[in-house]
Amino acid sequence: PPILDVRDVHKVYRTGTHALRGVSMRVRPGTVHGLIGANGAGKSTLIKILSGAQTVSDGEIAWRGEPAHWSSPSQALADGLAAVYQHMPLVPSLSVLDNVFLGHTGSVRWDRTRRTRELAELCDRVGYPLDGDDLVGDLSIGARQMVAILQALARGPALVLLDEPTAALSPSEREILFASVRRLRDTGTTFIYVSHFLDEVLDLTDHLTVLRDGLVVLDAPTASTDEAA
Ligand code: ADP
Ligand code: ADP
Repeated sequence: PPILDVRDVHKVYRTGTHALRGVSMRVRPGTVHGLIGANGAGKSTLIKILSGAQTVSDGEIAWRGEPAHWSSPSQALADGLAAVYQHMPLVPSLSVLDNVFLGHTGSVRWDRTRRTRELAELCDRVGYPLDGDDLVGDLSIGARQMVAILQALARGPALVLLDEPTAALSPSEREILFASVRRLRDTGTTFIYVSHFLDEVLDLTDHLTVLRDGLVVLDAPTASTDEAA
């Protein structure tokens, strides 16, 4: 069964814009599910809805077989769906360690040893080395993007929604990020990967949903996988 089942979702903004006009999408666990479309297609609207930042006008979303009634991103996060937005909520003047565990309850200082160990484990899982003491403001864009992803992973989500994660990355940083996503997928994490570059989505994803003018115009497994088998 799908981990996330979007059924006939509509969104009409107060301005009258009908941004989603009956979108359905099934995300299978342990896959990277691509979501693409030109500007204005409705990608941001859909991912805001999925991450609890917006409500639907009509339609249903089921999460692990149960109706999802998220009215904030923190509720979605508590249920196991974490979003990493293009504008990363990182604090440049804080260390990698403090950023990764930003917003966790309990004192950071108090738990430093345990968190240092957890960070090392997270770095192992993504296959990307980071020094917890480095200031985020001193890191490359690629390393910052990884800190944002680790910040999401530190909450133990079942599904991570990545919004245009390679927008500011160099080609080599992009390949490193792809390798991390594949690694995490192969150990069971599910991803929704939002992009407006078809080629990069084809490289990475197991399944692709294409939005245009608020409608799904293509929904198919990508050639590189055995999903259809
Ligand atoms: P709603 O509460 O209707 O779901 P939001 O709270 O997200 O809508 O947005 C409130 C207002 O912000 C909209 O009614 C609109 O005037 C404005 N707005 C924000 N982003 C956009 C956009 N991309 N295009 C048009 N209007 C926008
Ligand atoms: P994309 O992310 O694919 O560029 P969006 O979801 O941002 O698409 O936009 C879909 C449509 O909804 C566009 O016509 C956009 O102007 C409109 N829109 C987005 N956000 C708002 C908002 N808060 N209020 C009103 N209209 C919006």
